[in-house]
Formats: sequence, C-alpha cells, structure tokens
Amino acid sequence: MMRLIVWIAVAILVIWAVRSKVRAMMAPYREGFAPGSAPNRNQGQPQDARRVPGTERMSCCAACGVYFPASEAVRVDGRDYCSPAHAHQTSLHKAG
Ligand SMILES: [Zn+2]
Repeated sequence: MMRLIVWIAVAILVIWAVRSKVRAMMAPYREGFAPGSAPNRNQGQPQDARRVPGTERMSCCAACGVYFPASEAVRVDGRDYCSPAHAHQTSLHKAG
C-alpha cells in the first residue's frame, strides 16, 4: 500500500514538472509577435514545417508589399494580394 502512494506521488511530481516546463517554453509565443522582430524568410513556400502552433503564416502583397495573415490573402495567378483591389489593379497592369 505504501509503495502505491509513493508511485502516485512520483507521478504527480512528474506531471507537474512537465507542465511547468511546457508552460515556460510556450510563454514567449503567447505574448504574440513583436512587430519587425522576425522576418519571414519562407513566404514563398505554401507550408512552413517550423511554424509554431497557434501562430499564423504571414504573406506579402505582390502589389504594395504589405504583410498580412495568409488566411486573408487574395490569390490570383499564384500570387498573394492584401485585398481584391490590389489583385485587380495588378491584373489590369498585366493585361494592358
Ligand atoms: Zn496590397
């Protein structure tokens, strides 16, 4: 019986230690991105394997160069635009 109590105590200690370690590791990511701190060098790739869970891939507008969440991108001819207006503007330039 005593052995069982010791094992339960050890299990609780291990779980507590792992949780506090994970919490300490995730703390910088919870605060969100500081603007301009990390340039995105993988913007051309469709998927970034090193992406941190809970964050979003950023994309660069092909017309004005502004960075925005990739989920809001307007995709025309394989290029990302920040808005339908910029996508339309650039396709007009290409056509004529
Ligand atoms: Zn734009």
